[in-house]
Amino acid sequence: MDATTAAPLAATPLATLLAAPRPASLTDLLAEARAALPDIVAVRRRLHRVPEVGLHLPATQAIVVEELRALGLEPRPGTSTSSVTAVVEGAHPGPTILLRADMDGLPLTEETGLPFASETPGTMHACGHDTHMAMLLGAAGLLVERREQLAGRVLLMFQPGEEGYHGARFMLDEGLLDRPAGEDVNGAFALHISTKYASGTVDYRPGAMLVAADFISLTIRGRGGHASAPHETIDPITVAAEIVLALQSMVTRRVDVFDPAVVTIARIAAGTTNNIIPETAFVEGTIRTASAATRAAVHAGVRRVVEGICAAHGATPELEITAGYPVTLNDDAFTAFAAGVAAEMVGADAVLEMRAPIMGAEDFSYVLQRVPGAMFFVGARPPEEDPATAPQNHSNRVIHHEPALAVGAALYAAVALRHLAG
Ligand SMILES: [Zn+2]
Repeated sequence: MDATTAAPLAATPLATLLAAPRPASLTDLLAEARAALPDIVAVRRRLHRVPEVGLHLPATQAIVVEELRALGLEPRPGTSTSSVTAVVEGAHPGPTILLRADMDGLPLTEETGLPFASETPGTMHACGHDTHMAMLLGAAGLLVERREQLAGRVLLMFQPGEEGYHGARFMLDEGLLDRPAGEDVNGAFALHISTKYASGTVDYRPGAMLVAADFISLTIRGRGGHASAPHETIDPITVAAEIVLALQSMVTRRVDVFDPAVVTIARIAAGTTNNIIPETAFVEGTIRTASAATRAAVHAGVRRVVEGICAAHGATPELEITAGYPVTLNDDAFTAFAAGVAAEMVGADAVLEMRAPIMGAEDFSYVLQRVPGAMFFVGARPPEEDPATAPQNHSNRVIHHEPALAVGAALYAAVALRHLAG
């Protein structure tokens, strides 16, 4: 509402009107993000040229800090990693919403042919985390201009080490949700760009959005000997073969098909030549599950199968199940709220509920274990690409359609504005 033109409000003192948060027009917000797209794209391309892998990303951190300072914000670098946080203070009191962008690249050599391709051979922003930072910086710009509409504050979380390095957990351990601004966080929102979905769409689901990823490492200890006299040995290779197949039976017989799990043995290593039964066989693989209950059940199932089959044949297992990221669990109420905000902004036809979780994993899950919130996808498949063959995230040929960055920047800002509407 515009206070200068609304006749019935003419009698209200101007000071009262200025003090009250006004509801945001999300179509105006999107238009403003589109007008700012050249700046958002410029930052994205700058970041895209200098990808870094892991928890320590000095060049990336420097760009984020510089951009936040240019907005008049006070960036706070992390102590244990290259993370950055900053707070957009609203003009009115209220809770805090956390908006997150991850910062790290992947160990790949880029082959997109783009003029702003990675300048570091062997490293590439192949998962679009450069676009996440640019979108969140774009959102910060939109929010800084709208402090008057914010009853509360926005905590901007830029985190390194999403690609398997538990960067979000380092930030939580540093007190992200404990120190001033963090303690009042009552909602958290993250975006991930994807060429799986058409450019400009918003894609989401309540409940499990991504799954838990854990890792199996198993050494089967038998007794080696001559391949012609297996009865005098304990052959770890036949035991390994039985375990690999029994794990698949375990998944289909013990796991509810509507609460999915994947167990994949991706590597077997044993033996040296054709006439020796080796002492040991080594097996490794991954477990993906979409709920905490199934995760625990599959871990127990893997242990039972491994120990039972080894016992049946007199072999000894050395089994390690390493916990990766937990399930990324979108809060139902927050998800419905954010999907409503997205629909109001881009139209209901462009906001699509996903049929099933993505079987990848994401460390925003650690934040969502502490705060109700959601992660959504922003579609960025270039219109000329065939959905069946468009290079996906983690491909060294993936190209994200940059106009989608305006939708992502506006959506980050819109979710914060509506969450803090007072
Ligand atoms: Zn990613």
